[in-house]
Amino acid sequence: KQRTVLLATEKAFAAGAVTKIESVVKAANYTLKKLENYKGKDDLLAAVEGADAMIIRSDIVDAAVLEKANQLKIVVRAGAGYDNIDLKACESKGVVAMNTPGQNANAVAELVFGMMIVSARNNFDGTSGFELVNREIAFYGFGAVARAVHKLAQGFGMKSFAYDPYIPADKIKEMGAEPVSSVAGLFEHQYVSLHVPLTDETKASINKALLSKMPKGGTLINTARVEVVHEADMLEVLSTRSDFCYLCDVAPKDIEPFKAAVGDKFGKRLIFTKKKMGAQTAEANDNAGVAAANQIVGFFEKGETRFSLKA
Ligand code: NAD
Repeated sequence: KQRTVLLATEKAFAAGAVTKIESVVKAANYTLKKLENYKGKDDLLAAVEGADAMIIRSDIVDAAVLEKANQLKIVVRAGAGYDNIDLKACESKGVVAMNTPGQNANAVAELVFGMMIVSARNNFDGTSGFELVNREIAFYGFGAVARAVHKLAQGFGMKSFAYDPYIPADKIKEMGAEPVSSVAGLFEHQYVSLHVPLTDETKASINKALLSKMPKGGTLINTARVEVVHEADMLEVLSTRSDFCYLCDVAPKDIEPFKAAVGDKFGKRLIFTKKKMGAQTAEANDNAGVAAANQIVGFFEKGETRFSLKA
């Protein structure tokens, strides 16, 4: 039987990426079924029936979806964060779940620097700003995105610090960053950049106690997930510290109180994207989409499970 790969993307990939995904799938003699820009969960529930594999982005794959997906063997999140997949439900259904780590890291890293420069130059409002050279940046999580940011930071002549309990301190040192032994230790540096996945441990972990420790000009950069930051605490710190900046790719849902808290017309202290844009580049779209398609082919043809996720 010919295998069917469902491309289920509530926010579609760029057309060029879809063409590339399609050619990988066709080369393996599989069929690509597309459900792009769908409007509601019912559309997804109807489309998953009979699919052997699925490529998704931020699409929710929960028990209800898995229940309908009677043929599904593998679901691949084209991207890094996989908090939209119910891994326990996948496990109990015998469905392999994967992400495509690193494929969008450079895109996110460039956005981080874009936001830092806009912030350091006061959103180009005509006033004098400052330079990034010799400044300190500390990474919460030192995976693919953080390392890509670190590489750019080295080019800018910045000093890097990192906290990641899953990576040996020696390895962090080898990569040219200073290991930090606690989350709190990160907040002694001017810039703190979040690159941890959203988990029970990281959820709302960035709170007032940590943010208040930051030195003058303290700036939090969040390209991870909005839920990692304790929003009420962030609002309070933005309101009470006139030097504090928040640069976020994952803007709070209700941005108005945040704008009111900073009260500056030019958005010097609060920089945010209209919607999550970190991975929104032609290159990252292509890389993640093609990697997802290749991982599906590798899984069926060679039993490859290198990027499979554990519940
Ligand atoms: P990654 O898996 O390569 O790195 C995550 C790192 O976090 C790992 O090194 C892991 O050891 C570390 N970590 C996990 N739990 C931790 C904890 N409690 N404390 C400290 N470190 C911890 O992932 P990545 O590609 O670097 O992406 C990181 C996160 O950024 C993703 O999970 C995703 O949520 C987010 N992301 C957002 C965008 C975007 O469009 N804005 C794009 C890519 C990734």
